[in-house]
Amino acid sequence: ARATIGVTGLSTMGRNLARNIARHGHTVAVHNRTTARMTSLLDDHGDEGDFVGSESIEDFVASIEKPRAIIVMVKAGDPTDAVIDELVPLLDEDDIVVDAGNAHFVDTIRREKALSEKGIHFVGMGVSGGEVGALEGPSIMVGGSDHAYARLAPVVESIAAQVDGTPCCAHLGPDGAGHFVKMVHNGIEYADMQLIAESYDLLRGILGTEPAQIAEVFREWNGGDLESFLIEMTADVLAHTDTATGRPFVDVVDDAAEQKGTGRWTVQSALDLGVPITGIAEATFARSLSGHTDQRAAARTTFGVRPAVDAAHATDAEGTTDAEHAVGHDGLGHGSADDTADDRAEDTAEHTAEKRGGSGEFDPDAFTDDVRAALYASKVVAYAQGFDQLAAGSEEHGWDLDLGTVATIWRGGCIIRASFLDRIREVYADEPDLTTLLTAEYFSDAVSRGVDAWRRVVTAAVQSGIPSPAFSSSLAYFDGLRSERLPAALIQVLRDNFGAHTYRRVDREGTFHTNWAGDRAETTAE
Ligand code: NDP
Repeated sequence: ARATIGVTGLSTMGRNLARNIARHGHTVAVHNRTTARMTSLLDDHGDEGDFVGSESIEDFVASIEKPRAIIVMVKAGDPTDAVIDELVPLLDEDDIVVDAGNAHFVDTIRREKALSEKGIHFVGMGVSGGEVGALEGPSIMVGGSDHAYARLAPVVESIAAQVDGTPCCAHLGPDGAGHFVKMVHNGIEYADMQLIAESYDLLRGILGTEPAQIAEVFREWNGGDLESFLIEMTADVLAHTDTATGRPFVDVVDDAAEQKGTGRWTVQSALDLGVPITGIAEATFARSLSGHTDQRAAARTTFGVRPAVDAAHATDAEGTTDAEHAVGHDGLGHGSADDTADDRAEDTAEHTAEKRGGSGEFDPDAFTDDVRAALYASKVVAYAQGFDQLAAGSEEHGWDLDLGTVATIWRGGCIIRASFLDRIREVYADEPDLTTLLTAEYFSDAVSRGVDAWRRVVTAAVQSGIPSPAFSSSLAYFDGLRSERLPAALIQVLRDNFGAHTYRRVDREGTFHTNWAGDRAETTAE
């Protein structure tokens, strides 16, 4: 046995992870169910480091130094269990099985329990960064025992992305902690992408600008506090032209967003934990809505189409955009057949004046700045919600997650990497028991400065019929948190009325019930 560590499952991710390990000077054993993937790795990249290839799982296990550390990088779900079942009879006490796939943390908790009964350490390890990250330095979120982490650390910390000399890799807690954090990471990624997509849609719909121009806006934003991998990538893809048609590439792609399930898991877990992660939930539902093509077609037929902006005619002589025209009398976001040109001009004048706050010209640059502020404020909300979920999950499962460490290892390597995460790290360093990120001074200042712009953007979106579920729900969350009184009081009264669910009063201790069906006398309920 001479390999430091093994990797089985050599599709895109496993192959690149194995290469990354070899490039960092560790001898890596490699195996794949279908041998061709293993041999092609050795043929194509065998010169990058020290690989030990095996055709059989037995030879693979035998080629690794004890206590063995084996990374399983196969399709999540049943395939992971199948591989674990194959490995276990070949392992010795204190060996370590690492599941680096996108497992559900509940499965990880189950697997860890089953393997620990056999004296084997099971590690759920979240890996983010896609195929490039796996090769060049991902963000690595590790769960499991201290024994396992001590054995893995020299390898995993060396292959992770490094920011200011600190690896984007940490032992976050026992059993499912690593996969839970990876799941929430992906949920936040959904929200981040949805907010970016809404910003693009608003800039295009309201200003009538072409994707290439919007690319420039994102490029500029990337120079400020929104600087992130996803904003940079957005600038890049919006500037891309389809070679076959010469059209903006974003226009030739089917507008039904897919998902593999981590967003859904995040929302399901948040419901279980009772944490309102509205930004992530809206982002997940927005993907679902986009895929409901039958309902979309039926709605377009019944209510008319919200016209896509034709950039060539986007701005007429009066500087009025198609989106402004698009708001008809019926409020459905399309001009009625009997709309006259004068009616439309009147609509537009009113509408535009509202946008200007009653005076002055509509200023596209000011609107663009507003969208930037709204994006930032909504992003703060999405992260505040995601970190709330981390805290709640940690409490529920006894993981003792260090939120500052999570922010630290998300600064590089992963899809949501951003300078923003360095601010979050600093905030938790100053105040580890912070109630919500939203009120940390750095973020509260930015949100307070941006709140008027946020309202203008959501108003413009509503008036133009441009869907902005993540922007709107984030603003509603913000307003919900800071309300002196919420209508939840009315909900409590209704619950007590139809189901005797009781309520508490603002002026007295205790739990009460009113006899709604009878004399309406109030009694103390215990
Ligand atoms: P896939 O998810 O496409 O899985 C393919 C691999 O799984 C192949 O090596 C395949 O072997 C193996 N496999 C499938 N079923 C079995 C089985 N029953 N027994 C043994 N091996 C099996 O590969 P990816 O590289 O895309 O992803 C690997 C893992 O990493 C997944 O869990 C994924 O969710 C996760 N991940 C992926 C990211 C990405 O960007 N793609 C990012 C982060 C995590 P064979 O060649 O024999 O078919």
